[in-house]
Amino acid sequence: MHSDLIDQFTAIVGKRYALDTESDIEPYVTDMRGRYDAKSPLVLRPGTVEEISDIMKLAGKSSTPVIPQGGNTGLVGAGLPLSEGTNNEIMLSLGRLNRIIDVDAASNTMTVESGVILETIQNSADEVDLLFPLSLGAQGTCQIGGNISTNAGGTGVLAYGNTRDLVMGLEAVLPNGNIWNGLTRLRKDNTGYDLKNLFIGAEGTLGVITKAVLKLYPKPRGQEVAYVALESAEAALSLLNDAKNKAGNSLTAFEFMAGIAMEFTLKHAQSKIRRPIEGSYPWYALIEISSSSSAQEARNVLEAVLESAFEDGIIKDAVLAESLEQQRMFWTLREDMSFAQKPEGASIKHDISVPVGSIPDFIKAADKAVLDIVPEARIVNFGHLGDGNLHYNISQPVGWTVAEYFAHEAAVHEAVYAQVAFFNGSISAEHGIGQMKRDKLAKIKDPTALAMMRSIKQALDPKGIMNPGKVIG
Ligand code: ZN
Repeated sequence: MHSDLIDQFTAIVGKRYALDTESDIEPYVTDMRGRYDAKSPLVLRPGTVEEISDIMKLAGKSSTPVIPQGGNTGLVGAGLPLSEGTNNEIMLSLGRLNRIIDVDAASNTMTVESGVILETIQNSADEVDLLFPLSLGAQGTCQIGGNISTNAGGTGVLAYGNTRDLVMGLEAVLPNGNIWNGLTRLRKDNTGYDLKNLFIGAEGTLGVITKAVLKLYPKPRGQEVAYVALESAEAALSLLNDAKNKAGNSLTAFEFMAGIAMEFTLKHAQSKIRRPIEGSYPWYALIEISSSSSAQEARNVLEAVLESAFEDGIIKDAVLAESLEQQRMFWTLREDMSFAQKPEGASIKHDISVPVGSIPDFIKAADKAVLDIVPEARIVNFGHLGDGNLHYNISQPVGWTVAEYFAHEAAVHEAVYAQVAFFNGSISAEHGIGQMKRDKLAKIKDPTALAMMRSIKQALDPKGIMNPGKVIG
């Protein structure tokens, strides 16, 4: 990139907030899993929406690609320059837009800038005795703008929906530099196209999200958590439906994990975690019940769910958390699962969804398809059963090299995605498309849907400068 142009971009944010040395840039172009070879000549850290507008105007004039980035915790390379890029994409890091503008307890809304860290938002809601229910492993680092751009899922989806369901209004800077103010706090607004939903899940390809109005919820007065041992995925599905019947809206989480996923986590967890249930079982579930009145009520409901499941022979064993500390430990056991796979070697990962009722059949078919290719593969399957979303990860066989294992990567992906297609599922339930699944999406998405997506992209970003090469080619 020409140094004149770098100087012009730098002048917009000020020298202090423009990073142009390799060592300063490196954290912004390095992903957690180290799967992308990304480069950038410049990281801009704007402090105001107007600066972002000026950056986009200059980018338009100079045809410079701009990559918006939040906390850089994404898993599909959406917030990074393209691995096949030419080192001319500049990074727009939103971390300085970190103000909570307004907490409106009467309207149950919070208005924030897009660089606020998710956990800060959760805590601010908590301070006024309300709940912001988006919850995921990276919450101490990820930023709300990134959560919105990727329509993040996590563990609260069963009760509260995806990020999309938690956003009332947005402000965004368009690729041409115009600032769109859609910061509505209206619960009802029936005035044409729902523009905010264009930006939610667009992964920064249509504009830069700069502010959001978020929905807040009443805080549960009591929460109870249980770990349950199960013989089969069918039993887990029966338990889920039974829990839904008995608990209704108070069923706030139903997480599901294979025995091997539990063993990996117990073996490699960073914090000290005790085995919740003696012995080992093929499957486990974590159930959370919340009550709007008391912990006792939550406990009564959970006990009723477990009792009838025992009677019906659906569950093999169960343990209720007896303290807040134990509840946290149960959750840590689930949340550390993807980290715990790392020490076991390379992993071929999928973030898939199928209709909830098809989960047991999907697992059977996908397991068979994978083991036909790599018979010694270790299938470390876990996820959000209540949402039909599995992190269908496959660890390398013991004693194999990474190269030997990854020689089968393409075949394994293809086999798993064929089953996803068979069960009318999605190849990305909650992580997005980014650069990782872009080519795959182009092959499997309905052609009319793809054509509409391309038309929208073309209309808003005719110069193709807004996070190019992500989601759609
Ligand atoms: Zn997940």
